[in-house]
Amino acid sequence: MKWMQHIFSIIKKIKMNRRFILIFTGLILLTLGKALEAQIQSPEEFLPTKYKEHFTPHHLLVDYVHYLTDKSDRIQTIEYGKTNEKRPLLLSYISTPNNLAKLEEIRKAHIAALQPNGTISGGTPAIVWLSFNVHGNEAAGAESSMQVLYDLLVSDTRAKAWLEDLVIIIDPCINPDGYSRYTHWVWRTASTDTRPERIDREHDEPWPGGRTNHYMFDLNRDWAWQSQIETQQRMIHYNKWMPHVHGDFHEMGVDDHYYFAPAAKPYHEKISDWQYDFQERVGKNIANYFDKEGWLYFTKERFDLFYPSYGDTYPMFNGAIGMTYEQAGSGRAGRSVFTEAKEELTIRERIEHHKTAALATIEAAHNNKEELKKQHKSYLGNRKDRGAYVLEDNSAGLLAEFAELMKKNNISSGYTYDGKLVVPKEQLKSTLLNVLMEKNPALEDSLTYDITSWSLPLAYGLNVRNESSVPSYDSEQSNKNNPLTKTDAKMFFLEPSGVAGRKVMGKLVGAGIKYRINEENITFEDTLLKAGSVIITQADNKRIDLSKKIAALQLMDISSLESGMALKGPDIGGDNVKFINTPNVLCLTGEEVSSYTFGQVWHFFEQVIEYPITNIHKHSLNDNALRDYNIFIIPDNYSSFSEEEIKTLQAWVRGGGKLILLGNSNAQFARNKEFGLSFIENKEETIENEVQVPYSHKQRDRISEGMPGAVIQTELDHTHPYALNMDNYHSLKTSSDFYTLEKGHTIIKVPNNYNSYGFIGSKLKPKLGGTLVLGEEKMGSGSVVYMIDNPLFRSFWKSGQYLFSNVLFN
Ligand SMILES: [Zn+2]
Repeated sequence: MKWMQHIFSIIKKIKMNRRFILIFTGLILLTLGKALEAQIQSPEEFLPTKYKEHFTPHHLLVDYVHYLTDKSDRIQTIEYGKTNEKRPLLLSYISTPNNLAKLEEIRKAHIAALQPNGTISGGTPAIVWLSFNVHGNEAAGAESSMQVLYDLLVSDTRAKAWLEDLVIIIDPCINPDGYSRYTHWVWRTASTDTRPERIDREHDEPWPGGRTNHYMFDLNRDWAWQSQIETQQRMIHYNKWMPHVHGDFHEMGVDDHYYFAPAAKPYHEKISDWQYDFQERVGKNIANYFDKEGWLYFTKERFDLFYPSYGDTYPMFNGAIGMTYEQAGSGRAGRSVFTEAKEELTIRERIEHHKTAALATIEAAHNNKEELKKQHKSYLGNRKDRGAYVLEDNSAGLLAEFAELMKKNNISSGYTYDGKLVVPKEQLKSTLLNVLMEKNPALEDSLTYDITSWSLPLAYGLNVRNESSVPSYDSEQSNKNNPLTKTDAKMFFLEPSGVAGRKVMGKLVGAGIKYRINEENITFEDTLLKAGSVIITQADNKRIDLSKKIAALQLMDISSLESGMALKGPDIGGDNVKFINTPNVLCLTGEEVSSYTFGQVWHFFEQVIEYPITNIHKHSLNDNALRDYNIFIIPDNYSSFSEEEIKTLQAWVRGGGKLILLGNSNAQFARNKEFGLSFIENKEETIENEVQVPYSHKQRDRISEGMPGAVIQTELDHTHPYALNMDNYHSLKTSSDFYTLEKGHTIIKVPNNYNSYGFIGSKLKPKLGGTLVLGEEKMGSGSVVYMIDNPLFRSFWKSGQYLFSNVLFN
């Protein structure tokens, strides 16, 4: 520190005796240290935006965290990445100056101790990680992070002892884009005085709301799948640190008070008794503080521990104590809102509650530090499973992307000499691995509000074998791509591998290159063209110097063809090698569309396959707008089109357009006699049941009709271009609307005796057999594609994304 050097130089000049100098300096340091601490401004003093009365813009939150980092020697801050909208993502490490000076040493020792031959030494710090505001419009989270930081560094006298024993990692705002979407909207909408009455527009956030990130993904469903850049960048650090405790700060409805651990049932069976006990211990500590103030709260209700991709379950499967905290508030609350008791709920109170819960959690971790460390190691070291999962690549080529996901989760894997992927079960993350691989997680109670099966081999359509011993494999992953050798050819082909391989389509289209697809295998003298290959000929691209353009694109895995005459299968110039009109894609967006499904479509095009897409509002939709496009996607859609709009769409389809309907946007077309899709009614018994069951059983009985999300075996017409290279397909079904196709071609359906994974209501299960999953109805020279289940759900059902690509490009 500069002021210290300054003092020393003064002392030198005065030339006092040594002992005196030491005492004198000590005194000055002590006083100055105290004075400096006292000089650190609180958020109220620092922020010009009326902290605790109004929301803090994200850039000022960032300023404040940097300010604290400048002023205090008990905090270090890194910027670990940027959001889609280029806002910084921050992590602050809070501990004693001594611990912070050897932070990397502490981290390495902590990770080393977790290894089978490692030992935990007493006295080393435990790691507590607190994440705020994963849901952007639950804005009291980020707000309270500043108060928590200030209390830990300056005002809370208990913190000194805590920091000796802990490294506290704080992510003040996991989702800055969503947070900014919400808080900026409040700033431009709010009246000068607060308007707590709920009808004021301050309590009525517009579509799509600030909960989600830029691509409208729920980041609290993304921990394991890591489809979003916020998650990807954060998980690198999370996996580096493997904290002992993780707190995830949310908000819920305005009348809901406060929720903290222990969590509600169902728990996943891999959550240990000790983890539950510790949740209870933390909960009791928080309750002590809340009771003193007379604040209302609840535990053990509503927020379960099952789906593995949340901010509580994911840390749990990584051996930590993962906990959700929910304050009454969220987008409905504005700056102040009347609750059902006609009392005001303010930002100030919301901050106070979150802060109290956060500090009580840190205190509980501090008080149980050694036990936390011991149990964490024992959870991660509980490696009874021997052997390995061995996965073979499928025709779609999705194995490499599966391996990529293992890597993102810090699960080690590698390839055998003949290209199989080996994932040894005996490793630090074996529990997480088993949870992600299992088909039928044991559900002790059906009341969960999320999907109930997520098995990765099913999601990727991969065959998996359980081997009792680990085959030899190479953890250095090989790159199988071949560079183009002959560049002056007249014909080229490539076999896009997996979903990532489709990125090539955007490059071809960007270069103005047209293509064909073979619908069956073709054998040439020394080459086999797999069905679904992309075939590019000079004859289809007369106006460009094809070989030169292809060479310039530097595509991997592209090869040249000497001749168009096949030994077996169709010749390149025949009808069976189908010319594809270059997809020009339009997607419906705006208020009447599900922001989630729209976001999944938008994200899929921009980030997964890097292909251009135009997103249009309904009021701009007319035949002029449609003219330039040959694909139109309607995501889950809660509105209905007028007769006239349907006629416009139909005319466009007849003229060669492909209309792709996703999820419940199929419903309005099923009601229209002009289309071949029809509903299978599924509602009759509901009414009867609701009359018969007692009030307390009602919720449970409705569950027997329901489907929170299950995985269903399907039957494919493998000869159809949309089903090419799909050895099998399991559909992730999240809705209980059933359809059948009366006119048109059924490409994928649920077989009569089907296998399913996860929870399906007992009354629903028999009705699903024979229902439609994917169908196409030709109309004029175009078609309508009915996709009943949304294959892009949360961007983790890779075989679904592959299917969607087939519909686009084949
Ligand atoms: Zn939330």
